[in-house]
Amino acid sequence: MIKRIGILTSGGDSPGMNAAIRAVTRVAIANGIEVVGINDGYKGMVEGNFRPLIKEDVSDILDRGGTILGSARLVEFKDVKVQQVAVQKLTEAGIDAVVVIGGDGSYRGAMALTQLGINCIGLPGTIDNDIPATDFTIGFDTALHTVVECVDKLRDTSSSHHRCSVVEVMGNRCGDLAVWAAISCGAEAVVTQETGFDEEDLLERLRYLDSVRRKKHAIVVISEKITDVNELARKISANTGFSGRATVLGHIQRGGSPTPSDRMLASRMAEKAVDLLVNGIGGHCVGIVDNAIVSYPIEEALKMPKKSRKELYQLFDRLV
Ligand code: ATP
Repeated sequence: MIKRIGILTSGGDSPGMNAAIRAVTRVAIANGIEVVGINDGYKGMVEGNFRPLIKEDVSDILDRGGTILGSARLVEFKDVKVQQVAVQKLTEAGIDAVVVIGGDGSYRGAMALTQLGINCIGLPGTIDNDIPATDFTIGFDTALHTVVECVDKLRDTSSSHHRCSVVEVMGNRCGDLAVWAAISCGAEAVVTQETGFDEEDLLERLRYLDSVRRKKHAIVVISEKITDVNELARKISANTGFSGRATVLGHIQRGGSPTPSDRMLASRMAEKAVDLLVNGIGGHCVGIVDNAIVSYPIEEALKMPKKSRKELYQLFDRLV
């Protein structure tokens, strides 16, 4: 029977992490379990940087981006000796189990702690939607809204100046944010790790859009870590009828008030995490699959193949 749950946020932050913190806290308290906030991810765990959380501590955070607990990366946490220090700090504080909100790296930490005797459950908190064991991660929908809002604005000004806007979005080598945004914004091209990048092909397509389709503007949505977008914009200006401009959306995508969808997702997943821990289950991560909240052993989840988005790329091609 668990008496005290710890909760932490780890890796890159995402909108909806606070909604998850709130829901874990409230659901646990409703089950008669105490809750302890662990500040700054695994770094705070190793330092024993804890604070009790009561219902009132998580008031007025549902709509706030970021994470009230702070997030951090601690590379040394891969070392079992460092993990043992964490277990000691948790045991001293009477923490029997932990909910970890983060990406796949954070999941590995959760798995290691479970193996050392502290049951942990992972919740997928990342805007990148790059976790295979869930259709959606907490923060993806909000980031998508941000990208769509920005691209809509860029389109207005691009039309006035016969411009091609190259918009770089995040994704950590997952093209979901890019392809969802490209379809939602009616972009003229999308480039991701899944599509591959053929620069000459793209320039040819833009020349066609300009000279044959007589487009007033063009939007190219491109995932980060593919190419230098400023250089690409220069090539577009030099080789097509459009004036090329690059916009890197950057960390703006990580901020903002979570959408209702992300708040719902965070709340539903958090409830599942507490239920699993109450039932003595650890080393699992929570996901949403076909709108049902599910869980898988982390080890299994990390081996799952990347989700195929073939049908979305096909749809995009049909819409251009
Ligand atoms: P993001 O989506 O932002 O990349 P993430 O959780 O994948 O989120 P990472 O930086 O990979 O981010 O991991 C966060 C933290 O999890 C690391 O700083 C480290 O403390 C811990 N961690 C990562 N990999 C491992 C591992 N193999 N074993 C134990 N702990 C790990």
